[in-house]
Amino acid sequence: MQIDFSNTYATLPEAFFTAQLPQKVEAPKLFCFNDNLAHTLGIPRASTDELAEYFSGNILFEGSFPLAMAYAGHQFGHFTMLGDGRAVLLGEALDLAGKRHDIQLKASGVTPYSRGGDGRGTLGAMLREYLISEAMHYLGIPTTRSLAVVETGEEVMREKPHKGAVLTRVASSHLRVGTFEYARQYGGQKNLKALLEYTITRLYPHLEKHPNKALAFLHAVMETQAALITEWMRVGFIHGVMNTDNMSISGETIDYGPCAFMNAYEPKTVFSSIDRTGRYRFEHQPVIGGWNLSVLAGALLPLIDSDEDKAVEKATAVLEEFMPLYEQKYDAMLCKKLGLKTVDKESKALANTLLGIMEQKKLDYTNTFASLGFADKERFVSLDDALKEWHVQWEHTVGDTASAKARMRSCNPLVIPRNHLVEEALVKAQEGNKEPFFALLDALKTPYEGYENAQLPRVPDGVDVGYKTFCGT
Ligand code: AMP
Ligand code: MG
Repeated sequence: MQIDFSNTYATLPEAFFTAQLPQKVEAPKLFCFNDNLAHTLGIPRASTDELAEYFSGNILFEGSFPLAMAYAGHQFGHFTMLGDGRAVLLGEALDLAGKRHDIQLKASGVTPYSRGGDGRGTLGAMLREYLISEAMHYLGIPTTRSLAVVETGEEVMREKPHKGAVLTRVASSHLRVGTFEYARQYGGQKNLKALLEYTITRLYPHLEKHPNKALAFLHAVMETQAALITEWMRVGFIHGVMNTDNMSISGETIDYGPCAFMNAYEPKTVFSSIDRTGRYRFEHQPVIGGWNLSVLAGALLPLIDSDEDKAVEKATAVLEEFMPLYEQKYDAMLCKKLGLKTVDKESKALANTLLGIMEQKKLDYTNTFASLGFADKERFVSLDDALKEWHVQWEHTVGDTASAKARMRSCNPLVIPRNHLVEEALVKAQEGNKEPFFALLDALKTPYEGYENAQLPRVPDGVDVGYKTFCGT
């Protein structure tokens, strides 16, 4: 089988990668395959057995140059050397529109960057990434995609033995803030410059002729991050591990380890078992986005200006734009969730009053907005008495409620990957029953349609209480 691979990443200086073959697996069996995505990437049709061989890493595609990427990162605020400890980039493929995508095997075995890890992943964790990344895609949020999950036929040891699997991840690129940190720390200015040039050509080609490419690049990444985090806040997504190695330069959501969606509106929600201080809690995601950008800025300083003081001054000016830009985007998004046409003081106050009620009454984030937009007034206010008075104000502000509802449809999802449904699907899948997984995947493909049939009434009370997620298992 052939994919028209190119390997532009391998043209970077050698310090940025190690050639690395995926480790073979014992008995590859295809669990799921994303036919639509495969089609857009020009991946030929093949038998299930053939797909399992290729997307487990047992057989290499012609033209593939498998490599593990080197990168560093700040994990929970601390700098560490990392790299692909359980992934290999097979190569890059152009989609039907001519856009380049990395095709990467994740959980494909140990690499020089494994740091004592086994290089493998559990079927549950790989399916979790598949489900949630696809859900994000259909919600209209920039994200890496999932092409395939292949069971390895091998056991992976965690707290107990689990079925192993390999995920194929598709991304605009796997360049991270941590790749720049790595270049700054270990590569010398020549490598840092090579990385910047490569990244601009690949992801921000409109900046190629800019007189200060590094500064313009920082600005562009700042804008994509403000947009991305606004989108997370729109749907109640909590990434869970916003370390700088998990912040993609392309502005895509990446690394679906401990992520989860919030049910009851509680800005302090945190699910990740290792996030003891709530660093990556829902409400703190924009602050961390800004923090991560400052790390990127730090790495880029020598390229921004040869005079360090001037470089700091220029970078700081860009970083100072982040929070106002994010807030502007967030306010516009929130007002759109209410179907409001204008973003002014009155609209923002109305939105914040609703959020205040939702927080106090522990109302479901998704369902409250969904019923405002899709149900009639009686059904909306039946969620809680406190909404009655608010609804009167809302009607007064929007005027024509029908057109307000039309405006908010694309903004308020009906279907999100509910934690209890995700867990149920994964448990059943590991027991050999694939049906709940595919049923949920199917429902997640049309998140803005079918109010009556959506999963609205099916969120048990207190479902988030004690819910815990785990990193990259
Ligand atoms: P993550 O928390 O998934 O972003 O991973 C952080 C780092 O740990 C990355 O360098 C990963 O490649 C590495 N890593 C995660 N799980 C494993 C594993 N099972 N074996 C080896 N390296 C791993
Ligand atoms: Mg990661």
